[in-house]
Amino acid sequence: MLTSLFLLSTRFDDLNRQLFERTKQITEQVATTSEYAIVFSDQNMMYRILQNALSNHDINSVQLFNSEQKIIAELGSAPTQNNMTFTEESHIIEYDDHLESMSAIYYANNSLDGIFNAQTDLFNPTNQRNLIGWVKIEANKSAIKIAKYQYASLIIFSLVLLNILTILGAYHFSSHLTQPINKLAMALNKLVKGQFSAAKLTKLPPEYAELQKDLLDLTERLEHHHEELIIGIEQSTEDIRRSMDSMEEKSAQLHIANREAMESNRLKSQFLANISHEVRTPLNAILGYTKTLQKDIVDPQQRLYVDTIEQSTNSLLAIIGDILDFSKIEAGKLNLENNHFNLKALVDDVYQILSVNLLTKEKQIDLVPEFCADIPEWFVGDSTRIRQILTNLIGNAIKFTHQGSVRTKVSIASQTSQEITLSFQIIDTGIGIPEHKIHRLFKPFSQVDTSTTRQFGGTGLGLVITKKLVEQMKGKIEVSSDPSIGSTFRFTITLKKSNKTSQYKQKLDRRVLLLEPSTTYKNYLTAYLDSIGVHYVACSDIEQIISTLNKQHDAIDAVLLSVTPDDQNTTEARELIAYCAQQYAIPSIMMVQPPGQIAHYPDLKSLCSDILLKPISQDRLYQALLHINKAPIELLSQKALPSANHEHLKNLKILAVDDSPVNLQLLNHWLTPAGVKVSTAYSGRQAVDMAIHEKFDLIFMDIQMPEMDGMETTQQLRQLKHYKNTPIIALTAHALGSEQQQILASGMNAYLTKPIDEELLFTTIETWRNNTKTFQDQVDDKLINIFDLDKALAVVDGKADIAKEMFDMLADSLDAEKKLIQHHLEKQDTEKLIEVVHRIHGASKYTGTINIARHAGFLETHLKELGLEDADGVAEDFIEAIEELLNHRQLIPWPQSVNPTR
Ligand code: ADP
Repeated sequence: MLTSLFLLSTRFDDLNRQLFERTKQITEQVATTSEYAIVFSDQNMMYRILQNALSNHDINSVQLFNSEQKIIAELGSAPTQNNMTFTEESHIIEYDDHLESMSAIYYANNSLDGIFNAQTDLFNPTNQRNLIGWVKIEANKSAIKIAKYQYASLIIFSLVLLNILTILGAYHFSSHLTQPINKLAMALNKLVKGQFSAAKLTKLPPEYAELQKDLLDLTERLEHHHEELIIGIEQSTEDIRRSMDSMEEKSAQLHIANREAMESNRLKSQFLANISHEVRTPLNAILGYTKTLQKDIVDPQQRLYVDTIEQSTNSLLAIIGDILDFSKIEAGKLNLENNHFNLKALVDDVYQILSVNLLTKEKQIDLVPEFCADIPEWFVGDSTRIRQILTNLIGNAIKFTHQGSVRTKVSIASQTSQEITLSFQIIDTGIGIPEHKIHRLFKPFSQVDTSTTRQFGGTGLGLVITKKLVEQMKGKIEVSSDPSIGSTFRFTITLKKSNKTSQYKQKLDRRVLLLEPSTTYKNYLTAYLDSIGVHYVACSDIEQIISTLNKQHDAIDAVLLSVTPDDQNTTEARELIAYCAQQYAIPSIMMVQPPGQIAHYPDLKSLCSDILLKPISQDRLYQALLHINKAPIELLSQKALPSANHEHLKNLKILAVDDSPVNLQLLNHWLTPAGVKVSTAYSGRQAVDMAIHEKFDLIFMDIQMPEMDGMETTQQLRQLKHYKNTPIIALTAHALGSEQQQILASGMNAYLTKPIDEELLFTTIETWRNNTKTFQDQVDDKLINIFDLDKALAVVDGKADIAKEMFDMLADSLDAEKKLIQHHLEKQDTEKLIEVVHRIHGASKYTGTINIARHAGFLETHLKELGLEDADGVAEDFIEAIEELLNHRQLIPWPQSVNPTR
């Protein structure tokens, strides 16, 4: 396009210039040639000249002017009327459509010319040029315009032609380039669709030969992989199809297991619901009558028994309550109540009950409830649940603390006009909880120590329930513990303020002597005595009390005396109290740590002004000090023990082994009156020691004991020469099927399940005291119809290890097989049933399991000949045989080289 513009402009310039030149040339030519014609006024000549000029097709018109600027001749078309400028110099003016050229005509005045010119200037001949006129020519631009158009058309035409050619060329070239790429894309598309043979047909131009080769290569590889894949899939499908059968069997087993799980879950809930009702009802009766009995009984020994019944019943109620609460919480059915209660009294009460239940003669720890001064006494909330929380946490703390103290600190965390958030801390100096086990604490049924030798019972639900209750009271619970220091459980609860207030306690003007060996208690007591205005002298021992009394007995109102449960201390205390009363008529208030020995000193009650159980409640101490009572000295006579019934058991020597003194006490209580000589051992080790030195006729053995459990103790006893056949009877709390077998396998003869029934106890003793059979006879009796050891050994040439291995393999599978049989029976699937029974029948022939082999044989024949008709009874016998073997499995006396049975 640029080139065309350039060509056009040069060509147009050229045409213009040529016209210019031509016009100029013709004008000058006319000017020159018309000189003489003008001089001689030769019109013909003039017209000839003009005709000549006009013959040029560019020229439009020619005009000749004389020196006066008058036209003297003109030819051509009428000229345009422009203002003409007559100058001596020739010039050309350009207009839109024409050129106007003017030139002056001179006459050269030389010899000849003068003659002809005499007329004009006769007397003044001269050689000068004279201006004689002008010529004016108008040249037409139209000719060059046409030329220009022609030229421009030519250029444009060439331009268009050239462009068309270029486009065609480019199209051709690009299609040459893209065609193979398109073909390639189509080939790939076919590959993607898996049309390998179509992809192979793709032809690319020869310059893409290399690419074509690669494409072919790729296609073949893909085709190969594709085929391999199809083969693989077919193979897998075949495998899957083949494993369908075993899958079916497994799914049947799963189905059974699932159904069993659902059933057991349903049974669990039902059981929980039933148990609460069924167990609570008789327990209520027990508690009710116990309370009635308590009122009437004067005999201290009997009173102790009744108290023990009450405590045990209460703890049983608590456990059942726990289980029920847990199931309630699980079901989201636990609702809180609102009642007015006295928090201090509640905490005191909890401590009181727990100390009676949990402290023993050996375990003496200080129990201290501390309240910040600003805490109100009354609140509105669910006091039963708060009692439950405290009982649980303080109870745990006491259970797991052997020495030191369990303190409870109560303070206000925050309060609004309506509500108070209280913060409780239960701090013990007990065994603590290892760091890595703390996270387990609030999980259901979890206990930090889960071994059978653990020292503490419990369901593992307490803390879970506690946590839920605290959370329901808009609080939080947390624990920190260090096994070398102890544990601290902290929790907060939010309670409503109560408008109730306690009666104002006026200051007591009293002076007392205080004997309190424990520093923790002493601090607690003195702080309280100070706060109620009681003056005290803290003495460090009895001697100091006596000497103080001797000096200033007039100024003393009472003696406040702490007594530990050991006998000597109690005796001394009794003497001191009697002394104070008799000598100075000064009453004493005794503070006893449970379990007190007061029952053994019935006169103490009448000697003392008051007996306070530790932990000392502030309220009761106040009341005791307020109502100091100058008691008369009066002794109560003891009642004799009831006489025994079972005369014929006289002089029977029985050893009772149990870590719980309460249980031993109970056995003692039942057996001693019958004349049985009961010896007691608190641990397995002690029992073995006693058995070495003395021959007992019968042994009662607890199963769960710290250090060495009942089963291990029995095994050790059976090693002793004269205890090979002594009846050993287990006292167990669990007695599940599996545990019973373990008990018998450890060498015990029978078991009694706790709680022990008195009558059953005597029947058992009578059954076993006359037993002449050895323990092995007893085992053999049981096994004779079930298992034949000789047969099992004969199959493997007496190699006991192999025999046992084969037996174990069968026995391990029996539980699952049993379920499978039940399932197939239910589904009425004879074929599969025969398959399973046949399998067991085959295996049981070689493992000495004679009873199973026999019943499997019966069942297999029955099924093959009669099908499922009347097969139920036969199948039941077979399943019973399986169960019997599994139950007695532990008793099989494998020869020594064999490892003990699992
Ligand atoms: P349980 O009703 O069996 O006592 P808990 O939920 O109350 O169950 O307690 C679970 C376990 O947490 C206990 O068996 C004990 O191992 C541990 N535990 C709880 N409190 C303490 C504590 N103060 N010191 C040491 N261990 C504790």
